[in-house]
Amino acid sequence: MIDPPSLEKMIAEFSSLPGIGRKTARRLAYHLLTRSRGRIKPFCESLKEADEKIKTCSVCHAFTEEDPCPLCASREHAKTLCIVEKSSDILPFENAGIHRGLYHVLGGTLSPLDGVGPEELHIPGLIERIRKLNLQEVILALGSSPEAESTALLIDRLLQDLPVKRTRLARGIPMGSDLEFIDEITMLRAFEGRISL
Ligand SMILES: [Zn+2]
Repeated sequence: MIDPPSLEKMIAEFSSLPGIGRKTARRLAYHLLTRSRGRIKPFCESLKEADEKIKTCSVCHAFTEEDPCPLCASREHAKTLCIVEKSSDILPFENAGIHRGLYHVLGGTLSPLDGVGPEELHIPGLIERIRKLNLQEVILALGSSPEAESTALLIDRLLQDLPVKRTRLARGIPMGSDLEFIDEITMLRAFEGRISL
């Protein structure tokens, strides 16, 4: 049996998402059309609403509906700033309740092969921001892939002349793993045991 064109289109959209293969995409599409028909409209509306409302904070580049984001607005006098790769990496810190300071989202890691150099990341803005803020500590929380390591190295070098303590998360975050998926305990340990640079 061949899937009708509109269903085929739906499957193609699902399978364009990371981690969703064609089989799973097809299962999801069939599931929505058979057992969850009523979910389709709210599902589409939530996508549309997020697409319309979500932007990035002009200060820290986290996802937000307001600019500046609530974190930047409420923590302007914070003494620590945590540098993360992407907006979704903020959540584990907030969930674990370990960091009550500011964040800065780089928007990726250095990856020369994919054409991502320092200019493609929010690094100039970061340096500018740190210069202006009266911070005690900057925490590099960039995961453990080789790209993350070289990004951390570059940022550390750029910050070394500024009068601020530089630390990084302790080892213990599994090699190559994504901060977003780290459990709270591992995150807590890595944060508490952070290392001076
Ligand atoms: Zn912000």
